[in-house]
Amino acid sequence: MSGMETAPDDFSHLGAEAVSVAAGDLSTAWARIRGRLRQEVGDVEYRTWLRQMTLQGVEDGTALISLPTRFLRDWVRDHYGDRLRLLVQAEMPGMRGVELRVASARPAAAEAATPAEAPLAESLLVPPAPPPAMAVPAAASNGAGGNEWVAPLDPRYTFDTFVVGKPNEFAHACARRVAEAPAMAGFNPLFLYGGVGLGKTHLMHAIAWALREGNPHLPVAYMSAEKFMYRFIAALRSHNTTEFKTQLRSVQVLMVDDLQFLIGKDNTQEEFFHTFNALIDAGKQIILSADKAPTDLSGIEDRLRTRLSAGIVADLHATTYELRLSILQAKAHDAGVEIPPRVLELLARKIASNVRDLEGALNRLVAHAQLFGRPITLETAPEVLADILRSHDRKLSIDDIQRKVAEHYNMRLTEMASARRSRAVARPRQVAMYLSKQLTQRSLPEIGRKFGNRDHTTVLHAVNKVTELMEADAAFAEEVTLIRKMLET
Ligand code: ADP
Ligand code: MG
Repeated sequence: MSGMETAPDDFSHLGAEAVSVAAGDLSTAWARIRGRLRQEVGDVEYRTWLRQMTLQGVEDGTALISLPTRFLRDWVRDHYGDRLRLLVQAEMPGMRGVELRVASARPAAAEAATPAEAPLAESLLVPPAPPPAMAVPAAASNGAGGNEWVAPLDPRYTFDTFVVGKPNEFAHACARRVAEAPAMAGFNPLFLYGGVGLGKTHLMHAIAWALREGNPHLPVAYMSAEKFMYRFIAALRSHNTTEFKTQLRSVQVLMVDDLQFLIGKDNTQEEFFHTFNALIDAGKQIILSADKAPTDLSGIEDRLRTRLSAGIVADLHATTYELRLSILQAKAHDAGVEIPPRVLELLARKIASNVRDLEGALNRLVAHAQLFGRPITLETAPEVLADILRSHDRKLSIDDIQRKVAEHYNMRLTEMASARRSRAVARPRQVAMYLSKQLTQRSLPEIGRKFGNRDHTTVLHAVNKVTELMEADAAFAEEVTLIRKMLET
C-alpha cells in the first residue's frame, strides 16, 4: 500500500530527469517491486509470468525491463503493465514509466545507474526502439513526474491553443472556472458533451495542464472510460479491486473521457458510481465528457444519470463558419506558414464536420507546401485536398435538408415552399433555411428560390433568427444540432 501513498513530496526535489540513483538503491527498489508483485499476485502466478523479468536499466526516466520471449513480454504488458508502472513510480524516485522489452535475461543497466554491472546489451543501446505499444509513456510528456498514473496529456491541448467562439464559449468558460477553482460548489462534476472532434478532450487536457501549472504535484488522473473499464476488469481478474479503488480515490481531480463507452457494463458502472460518489463527497473535482448530455445517455442507470447532471453540464455545439475560420487562422499562424485568407475561407466553408477534419486538411496543405516548395494558392489547395473536399461535399442538397427537416417536424414537404406563415410551419422552414446556409454552398438568393421564391433577406432573417434561438434555448439548439448531425452522417 505504501507505494500509492508515497507523498509526492518525497521525491519532489528530483527533477523529472534528475535520476541518478545509485545502483544499490535501484536494485533494492527492484527487489521491493518484485516482492510486492509476488505478494499481490501469489506465488504461482508470479513464477509463471513475472519471475523472469529483469531490470535492464533506466533511461530517461523509464525503467527498462526485459523478458525472455515476446509472448511473456506481451502477457506481462497486457496483464501487469499498469500495475508494474505504478510500482515503479512508487518505488523508484523520479521514474515515470516502464518499457518492456524482449531480451535475454542477462542483467545489464544504464550507465548512470550501475557502471559496475554488466554493460548494456548492444541491442538495448540503439535504437531505444519504438516503444512497445504499451510502454506506458505515463507522465513522459507531462513535465514533473508524480501522480499522473493514468494517461499522458497532450502538450498541444492547452487553453492557449483552444480557440473560443460562440459554439464553445460556455464550455470553455466552465472549463476555465474549474481550472481556477476545482471542486467549487455548482461546478462539480463538470460534464462536457458534444459531437466528435469538437474539443472535449482538448478542454479536459487544458484543465489538467492549468491545474498542474499551479501545482505540479496535484494528483490529476485523466483516462478514457474504456481505460477505466479495462483497469477495473483487470483488477477484478487479479482480485485487486481494493488497490484500484484506493488509487482512484487518492486523486484530487478525476477526468473520465468519452463516458458513452461505459454504458451497459454493469459492474464497471457500479464501480464508477461508487468512485464518483466517494470522490465528490471527499471534495474532489470530477470532469467528464460524453457525446451526449447525461439525460440522453442510454444504458445508464438513473441514479448515475442524476449524479452526472448534478454539477454543471456544458455542451460544445457544432462549429460555425466563423469559429472554423478562427481556428484555421490560429493553426496556420502556429504552424508558421503563409496561407492566403481565401484558402482558409474555402476550408472553413467546405469542411464543416468537425475540427479534427479541419486540422487534417490544414496539415496536408502545409506538408504539401513544404515538400514541394510550392505556395498554397486558391488553385493548388483544391487539388491537394480534392478527396477531402469531395467527401465533405457529398452534395448535401437543399432538397435533402428540406426533406429531413420536414420529416423531423412531421410536416408536409410542400410546406417548405408554401406561403403559409403559421408558426408550426414557419419555424421548421427557418430551420431548413438555416441548415441550407450552414451545410451547402448555396447563396442566400439561391436558397430563397428553393423556398417558394422567397427573398434573400427572408433567408438571412431565418438564419439570424435560428442562431439567436439556439443561443437562448438549449433544447431548441439540441434539436437543430441533432437534425444537422443526421444530415451530416
Ligand atoms: P473531441 O474530444 O470532442 O472528439 P478533440 O478535443 O479531440 O475532440 O478535438 C479534435 C481536434 O480538434 C484536436 O486536435 C483539438 O486540438 C482540435 N480542436 C477542437 N476544438 C478546438 C478549438 N476550439 N480550438 C483549437 N483546436 C480545437
Ligand atoms: Mg475526445
